[in-house]
Amino acid sequence: MAETLTTRCCVAGGGPAGMMLGFLLARAGIDVIVLEKHADFLRDFRGDTIHPSTLELMHELGLLDEFLKLPHQEVSRLSFQVGAERIPMVDFRHLPVRCKFVALMPQWDFLNFLARQGRRYPAFHLLMQTEAKDLISDGGRVVGLRAKAPDGKLEIRADLVVGSDGRHSTVRERAGFTVEDVGAPIDVLWFRVSRKNGDTEETSGHMEAGQMMVMLNRGDYWQCAYVIPKGGIEAVKREGLFRERVLALSPFLGDRVGELRSFDDIKLLTVAIDRLRQWHRPGLLCIGDAAHAMSPVGGVGVNLAVQDAVATANLLAARLADGCPAEHDLDAVRRRREFPVRMTQAMQVVVQNRLISAALKPGNAPLRPPLPVRLINAVPWLQGITARFVGLGVRPEHVRSPVSKHL
Ligand SMILES: Cc1cc2nc3c(=O)[nH]c(=O)nc-3n(C[C@H](O)[C@H](O)[C@H](O)COP(=O)(O)OP(=O)(O)OC[C@H]3O[C@@H](n4cnc5c(N)ncnc54)[C@H](O)[C@@H]3O)c2cc1C
Repeated sequence: MAETLTTRCCVAGGGPAGMMLGFLLARAGIDVIVLEKHADFLRDFRGDTIHPSTLELMHELGLLDEFLKLPHQEVSRLSFQVGAERIPMVDFRHLPVRCKFVALMPQWDFLNFLARQGRRYPAFHLLMQTEAKDLISDGGRVVGLRAKAPDGKLEIRADLVVGSDGRHSTVRERAGFTVEDVGAPIDVLWFRVSRKNGDTEETSGHMEAGQMMVMLNRGDYWQCAYVIPKGGIEAVKREGLFRERVLALSPFLGDRVGELRSFDDIKLLTVAIDRLRQWHRPGLLCIGDAAHAMSPVGGVGVNLAVQDAVATANLLAARLADGCPAEHDLDAVRRRREFPVRMTQAMQVVVQNRLISAALKPGNAPLRPPLPVRLINAVPWLQGITARFVGLGVRPEHVRSPVSKHL
């Protein structure tokens, strides 16, 4: 016999979208259960980029000072090395927000922080090692979900189920939602090499004919994203570890590239851009990557997931206080968030198809910066535009959900 729990809102998936939503609903006094299938948040190479707009939300929540006490690195400018030329691309220093930088922080620190903040509210319940397996429906409406917990089966009855279980979402699959695949011509190999005194401080991209890598300064190591053509991992493996290629892009890693010992040191990110046509059904809503997987271009996946959560809490917290939100209330979340998602994905497609794919074409001729890159270099205020798009995103959200008086 499955144990049964009852709550106002059951959130499946404790990533950035689910944890932020759980925290905001509990803060509004709405009883919420967040399910996370893993025992902890410790997973390497997930989105570790906390953008200025997310930091602004932390300020609005009164949490910014505490948040910034967590170990992080601050990136206020981004440049690209294209052949012999170093080109400034993004300058966050003039954004109209408190934090004019991207904070690089392990995602597990961010999620643990949200979990700690959530636990301040009695309405917040986080069930780790609990995996959503199926939806429970009654008369065409979702009324809860079935989950596998460490002690056995669990049934959670809820006025609203939110699927925030990422880009391989069980919830969206069980709901039968149609996924529109936008496509992505690239995959990314993530790895790390140590950082030494005397290395540059700068987080930057590197492009040569046929190759591209982004290096994030993570304090004592470089987090490297080596970009390959879609499905190219087998060809890379046949060639063996790509240390020479890494060295061609960043010669200063000469004494450290040997830290790449096997493909176990490398994590493949199969890049996907997709989105749901329909984000909701009666009693059910999908947000974050479960509603729209993003490309790593701009590192905006975490930011969009958080923005979805804020919009959901803004639009639904008051409705949830009275029971299940109506369908048009659920659709209000899609209407609010679909435009920013589509705009961001469209920009990612342009960057992937026009700039990155062109750079990855094999060839021996020295790579010339493409026209848009040369323009950004020539007209410095364009670096402010790219900063707005990456750092704040389209139609950034602000916290409007209520705060419960009953702590
Ligand atoms: C290797 C890699 C590198 C990335 N790099 C970046 C980057 O640099 N910058 C950036 O912004 N984005 C990056 N992303 C994307 C970013 O991590 C996501 O866009 C963002 O985390 C989406 O948040 P989310 O909460 O919607 O989903 P997720 O972060 O995917 O969270 C979903 C959560 O649900 C849990 N879950 C899954 N299924 C179930 C289930 N059935 N029941 C219960 N729990 C479940 C998962 O364990 C996970 O914790 C990267 C992604 C990957 C895979």
